[in-house]
Amino acid sequence: MKIAVDIDGVLADQVSAALLEIEKDYGQKYCKSDINRAHWSFAGIEIWTEIARLLADPEYVMRVPLIEGSQKAIKQLCRHDVIVVTARRPNAEEATRRWLNWHFPSLTQYYHARTGTKHNIPSDVLIDDLDMNSRSTGYSFPASLELKRHRY
Ligand SMILES: [Mg+2]
Repeated sequence: MKIAVDIDGVLADQVSAALLEIEKDYGQKYCKSDINRAHWSFAGIEIWTEIARLLADPEYVMRVPLIEGSQKAIKQLCRHDVIVVTARRPNAEEATRRWLNWHFPSLTQYYHARTGTKHNIPSDVLIDDLDMNSRSTGYSFPASLELKRHRY
């Protein structure tokens, strides 16, 4: 089975990392529970705009922590063909590949897809934390799993 796995929110705890930087750069402290919607903003800045800015810094990319349990989960999928699919901008790809190689050396297939288009990646299953990336209508957090062609 071919399984596509999102990075941010599934493997990488992007929101926690970004909130630390926001505290450092803007002096405003927030916690993950404050981020209650995809288009959350602080001081007039949308968090995804801030994350895009941060991801341009390779040192920041390497500091992003793991989602708890993600390494164990990927190991459990080792008999499947697992590919990484991300909407991170191309300027973050080199550092992201280094981060992946460090934490998930088995994940070597890397696909860039724009947000909302990940369901077009050729795979049987998509594991993603954002419902708009799957064809499912229900919202689930922290990760939604879409069975694209088969039921297992
Ligand atoms: Mg995500």
